[in-house]
Parts: sequence; structure tokens; C-alpha cells
Amino acid sequence: MSLAGHLARRIAAEGPMTLADYMSACLLHPDWGYYTRRDPLGSAGDFITAPETSQMFGELIGLCLAQSWLDQGAPTPFALVELGPGRGTLMADILRATRGVPGFHAAARVVLVEASPVLRARQALALPDAAPEWVDDVEALPDLPVFCVANEFFDALPVRQFRRDGRGWRETVVGLRDGALSLGLTDPAPLAALSHRLADTGDGMVVETSAAAISVAATLGARVEARGGAVLIVDYGDWRSQGDTFQALRAHRPVGVLEDPGACDLTAHVDFEALARAAPAAHTKMTPQGIFLERLGITPRAQALAAGLSGANLDQHVAAHRRLTHPEEMGTLFKVMALYPHKASPPPGLETANHLE
Ligand code: SAH
Repeated sequence: MSLAGHLARRIAAEGPMTLADYMSACLLHPDWGYYTRRDPLGSAGDFITAPETSQMFGELIGLCLAQSWLDQGAPTPFALVELGPGRGTLMADILRATRGVPGFHAAARVVLVEASPVLRARQALALPDAAPEWVDDVEALPDLPVFCVANEFFDALPVRQFRRDGRGWRETVVGLRDGALSLGLTDPAPLAALSHRLADTGDGMVVETSAAAISVAATLGARVEARGGAVLIVDYGDWRSQGDTFQALRAHRPVGVLEDPGACDLTAHVDFEALARAAPAAHTKMTPQGIFLERLGITPRAQALAAGLSGANLDQHVAAHRRLTHPEEMGTLFKVMALYPHKASPPPGLETANHLE
């Protein structure tokens, strides 16, 4: 049996499923899930992320978190947390870059929030000296101040999708047509959770919501506000969900979202406003990744590393710097926002946002 067959049977028995249920099954089904069974990262995989592009990304994130920890009085002990750590590269770069920060390593408990057994094993190999602890979700984090990074984590959390129809909304669902998975729309119905979107959408426009993302932001925001810390959220998306951003990727190419379920990466753009609203902590302005990395000094760091390189290695390094920061590459599509305590100052590279516009 394949995941497609399993889903078809489930839909035949129970009726059409929401995109969120479809996405969770495809990504994390215990037997057939995309992340459950494989390491999808790297040039031989389906996508390449910022930490896999250059060590500079993790180094600057590490220094940003360490400075924020110092600014908040170096609380000891604290949890150094990553959500969805992939191959563990980002955390390894964070730990290497912060070795020289007095007290930081001694105070840190490294905690990784990871659903995939395959990737947990990769992370253990990447972090041989860090003695990381793994948890299934943010609810299980230790009750400590939390300094946390999430790179390309929120885009993997399931979304529901709604199309405006008069004063109501039609939800995109996965049903069956002639025995095959097929997208459909429910009848229009009003939806309290989207009442604030009636003002800025018109007929036929699409918005997406992620209950899972909201719940993670609410839990982490409450922890940071109560115990101290900071959460750096890095992802593609924008301030307000607008339009159909549900997409499937295989071998670095877009494919149909119903094609070969469980074998393709499924993502949606992150709605940063929804995260900011859900978190009972302060949030910074949402800032383009390129600007954030420039403010943290990526150019002098790139020059220092370039001094030791030549030939193809130098070309690759220059291309990686460009890929992380250039507006036509990851520099503008990717955004950064931090959650931090109301009584603290924002992490370096990011500015206070005083109110929700
Ligand atoms: N942050 C890494 C990997 C991004 S891929 C990098 O930048 O390279 C997404 C990661 O999130 C993977 O590690 C995946 O297994 C994990 N993940 C996806 N959904 C999850 C969930 N609901 N709970 C925990 N981890 C999840």
C-alpha cells in the first residue's frame, strides 16, 4: 500500500480532508511521511537551506543569540533550542561561533525539537560533543529561559486554505475523483477566525491559516515572556497571508501538490503577522534576511573567510554570500522576526515593532 492509496481509502470512508490534514499525513505519517523516512536536504535531495549554503549563516545566528543572552543578564542555565534542525548544521555552526562567549556553553542545555527519526540520527552525528536532548514538540521544552532559532521550520507546518466567496469562505479540500486524489472546494460558510480578513480581501482571493504555527508561537512566546530569552524565526513568507502559496518540491523543481504524496516536500509561506499576534511576547519588525545578515556583519565575515580561499572554493564562497543576501536570491523572499520579552531589548540586527499594524 502507498500513502496515496491509504489517503484514498480514508477519504472514501470519511469524506474530503483539509489541506492541513493532507499536509500532516504527507510530511509526518509514521510509515510513509516525507520527513519520517528521509533526509531531504542538500544538492542530491529536494531543497537546500541557508545553513547548508554557508557556515556564515549559523555563525551570525549564534552570535545574535549569544549577544541577546548577554543583554538579558546571561541567565544560567538556559535552553539553547532549535526547531526542525534538519542535518544539525545550523546548531553546529552556532556552537562553534559561540565557543568564545564566556559562560555561554556552560549555561546552555541544547534541546532540539524534531519529529523525524532519520533527521534525529543525522543531528546526533553533527553534534557529537553537544549532548543534545530531543523533544517532539515545544510543549515538552524544559522550563528555562529559551534562546531559540527556527529556520525553514514554520513553512513545514500544516495550513488550511480558504477562498473568499461573498461574506463567507470556501475551504480547499482533498477529495476523490474517479478514485484519484483531487482538489475541491467546500460550500461557502462564514468563519469567525477570518472576520478580520473581510476588510482586505475580495471575492475569489485566497488566504491560508496555520493552527499549528499559531500554537508554537503562543507557547514559545509565553515562555520567553515569563522566563526570558529570544526566538529567531527565519522563513519565506510575508506579514499577512495572501494568495495560494501551498507548494510541492521534488529534486529542486515544483511539482503538483497531489503528485506522489509522501515523496515531495510540501510547504506554505509563513504569515508573520499571525505568529506575532499569537505570541504573548514582544516581536521585532519583520526584516528581510539580506538586511538582517548585513547588519550582523556578514560582509566583513565573508571577506575574512575569502582571504583563505582560492579558485573554485572562492567562487563557491562568493556565490553563497550572494545567495544568502541578494534581493534576487534569498535576501528578500526570506524574512526574520524575533520574539523577545517586553522588558528586554530586541536581539541585534532587528528593530522594535511597537504595535500590530
Ligand atoms: N532548519 C533546517 C531544516 C529545515 S527542513 C535547515 O535550515 O536546514 C524542516 C525541519 O523541520 C526538518 O528537520 C523536519 O524534520 C522538521 N519538522 C517538520 N515538521 C515538524 C514538526 N511538526 N515537528 C517537529 N519537527 C518538524
